[in-house]
Amino acid sequence: MKFSTKVLLVLSLVILFSMTLTVQADEQPVYEVTADYLNVREKPNADSTIVAVLSKGDQIRKFAEKSGWAKTFYDGEEVWVSMHFLKKVKQEKENDKEKNTDTAKKSKKIKVNVGQINIRSGPGVDHEIIDFSKKGEKFRLVSKQGDWVEVDLGDSKTGWIAGFLMTKPGESKDNSLEGRKIVLDLGHGGKDAGAVGVGGVLEKNLLLDTGLVVADKLKDAGAKVILTREKDHYLTLEERVEISKKHNPDAFVSLHYDSFYDSTVSGTTVFYHRDGELAESMKLALDDDPSIKSRGAKKALYKVLTNTKSPSVLLELGFITNPSELEIIQSESYHKEVAEAIKNGLLKYFD
Ligand SMILES: [Zn+2]
Repeated sequence: MKFSTKVLLVLSLVILFSMTLTVQADEQPVYEVTADYLNVREKPNADSTIVAVLSKGDQIRKFAEKSGWAKTFYDGEEVWVSMHFLKKVKQEKENDKEKNTDTAKKSKKIKVNVGQINIRSGPGVDHEIIDFSKKGEKFRLVSKQGDWVEVDLGDSKTGWIAGFLMTKPGESKDNSLEGRKIVLDLGHGGKDAGAVGVGGVLEKNLLLDTGLVVADKLKDAGAKVILTREKDHYLTLEERVEISKKHNPDAFVSLHYDSFYDSTVSGTTVFYHRDGELAESMKLALDDDPSIKSRGAKKALYKVLTNTKSPSVLLELGFITNPSELEIIQSESYHKEVAEAIKNGLLKYFD
């Protein structure tokens, strides 16, 4: 084969290949998120790491499907979302395409992690400083070059920021509870055993097991966690309220396990008094993954809810009087699920 023929062949293959890619991308069906929040995960299973959260109405392209999970791409990475919360939308018309691209771009927001930082005219420290940004400020990502990211400054202007100062949604810092103070109240303790479950299992002991896992999770996410008890220790309700008042946390979360004479009753419940928004975030987070279904958020007059001043919820994390549910409740994996859900519920609330 002559050299020119080779070049021509390679070139036409490249063109053909890129054409195929373009055509394929357009042919992927578009789905819309139907849940208020939808976790985007690394792998097609509910235990996999969450890399981002989509909101109702967000659209994705489905590139493949595997046991109820849709494969799509996020920031160039393969990610998966549960098909259960997706609805197929009619393929957009030509003139709607721009709008969709905009939506996709909007979801790629990045956030400034540190105090005031310089925004420059180009990707490097030798470029002129054209603006400053504050900690926590969010920008739409336009492009990347090396360690620098180009962000949208509005009015069709863009600027460049050192990439390591930013996080994209789903990354640890943006998804962080840093600077948040949480009072985690573990119900009962000492002479107060709480509910007694199947086989004489005591609520107070299960709460200690669960609560310590939850506390670790919240600390890992950057929160300052104050536990009302760290051992089998008796506290009155007033003492729990006083601890909350003294620390004045961003949220007060009381943990309990439920009981009922009918052993078939099951599910988790979020109780609240004033703070419906915190309760709703917790309910959504508990709905999302944990193995036990949610019974919803309900108003209640518990002392730890009515007498505390901070946003407060009381979580009943399942029925220890239901044999199959108790089995789940006693597992370490459930404690981890609950910890993840509480963390996510707080993140949603603080967002
Ligand atoms: Zn209880």
